[in-house]
Amino acid sequence: MKAIIVGGGPAGLMAAETLAAAGHRVTVIDQRRSFGRTLLLAGRSGLNLTHSEPFDDFLDRYGPARPQLEPMLRAFDPEVLRAWADELGAETFVGSSGRVFPAAQKATPLLRVWFSRLVEMGVDFRPGLTWTGFVDGGVETVAADGSKHELRADRIVLALGGGSWPRVGGNGSWVGILRDAGIECVELSAANAGVLVDWTPEHLAAFEGEPLKNAAVSIDGLTVRGEPVITRDGLEGGPIYSLGPAIRRQLGERSVATIHIDLLPDVSHNGLAIRLETKRPKDSASTYLRRAGIKPVGISLMREATGNRLPGDSVGMAALAKAVPVRITSMAPIERAISTAGGVAWSAVDDSLQLRARPGVHVAGEMLDWEAPTGGYLLQACLSTGAWAGRS
Ligand SMILES: Cc1cc2nc3c(=O)[nH]c(=O)nc-3n(C[C@H](O)[C@H](O)[C@H](O)COP(=O)(O)OP(=O)(O)OC[C@H]3O[C@@H](n4cnc5c(N)ncnc54)[C@H](O)[C@@H]3O)c2cc1C
Repeated sequence: MKAIIVGGGPAGLMAAETLAAAGHRVTVIDQRRSFGRTLLLAGRSGLNLTHSEPFDDFLDRYGPARPQLEPMLRAFDPEVLRAWADELGAETFVGSSGRVFPAAQKATPLLRVWFSRLVEMGVDFRPGLTWTGFVDGGVETVAADGSKHELRADRIVLALGGGSWPRVGGNGSWVGILRDAGIECVELSAANAGVLVDWTPEHLAAFEGEPLKNAAVSIDGLTVRGEPVITRDGLEGGPIYSLGPAIRRQLGERSVATIHIDLLPDVSHNGLAIRLETKRPKDSASTYLRRAGIKPVGISLMREATGNRLPGDSVGMAALAKAVPVRITSMAPIERAISTAGGVAWSAVDDSLQLRARPGVHVAGEMLDWEAPTGGYLLQACLSTGAWAGRS
């Protein structure tokens, strides 16, 4: 059997490997001149391949998409992924947070060995071909010189990635092509992305790039601890990424979203109010807040939230420090997000990830409608769905 894989990221390459290992003829095409560029980018921050937490908790990270992804994640689970990486010479270790990385903490060695192995298996790589749509029994592509090529195969796997970081991966233009072909796609949006906040110039001048260390961020009853970072146009960082789905929901309902930041999550409201009662007559607000354990960046955040009108009493001040409201005007643009929410709807594919409207065409990776936090969950699901599509 002959198969064409469109998109040479982790999902597409894993589909290629699975098909080639089963003895099929495989061609991988990609619009770029080289393959796996998003993986290389992920390697710059250590290449967090998967996570070692208990498998049931692991599955929960996929939220509403857990039921659809579960069989794929079970068939190619974190242990299988680690064995696969080990085999490629990228022996893995578990970091202190339970995240799993290759020892080299970068993607280049793994990708080099993987690529060579695929070539040895007979996989044919065709870089510089952009997929533009379907033809009978195949795909239509355009080369860099504008020439059109039709490639035919018994099976096609689409693994075009999401819409983030278009400089290295996909740009989401496949949504239009698939919709025109009658395939339902959920609107793409930024996931694991920063948010936009209108900071005052004073706050930015003093604190751009500064983390709010050991803070707790809440929205709609969900709380995540970590270090949100003040950026030029808003906030970035783990807790913001994790709360992304709830922030997006509020933005969708009200056009603005409000998160609350607890600057001292290990101190109770009463405990903080008592600390704040010891104001000396000559103390400025900043001095006495600092003495109570609040860092200058936190004090500035409190000033931002109140238009520089801090509460006059210790109880009010403690309440503010325990829940500083931050008004979010928008998610950061999808181009700057780590991953993408939305994509090919689950109702558009069958259990083998085959498009119902296009038999013989399967979909894998981030272009499917799921999202997950950072922590290795993204690459794991891309590799698991790639293996599943290949096996199917
Ligand atoms: C900065 C950054 C850091 C990250 N770090 C991590 C991490 O540490 N751990 C983790 O789990 N995840 C991480 N991710 C996410 C992870 O890299 C992605 O989820 C994953 O690469 C998606 O794999 P994919 O195969 O679905 O798509 P991609 O890797 O995006 O690959 C899609 C491929 O399709 C090609 N393509 C797109 N459109 C066309 C077309 N029309 N014709 C031909 N080819 C096309 C693209 O050129 C690309 O090569 C990170 C992402 C970013 C941006």
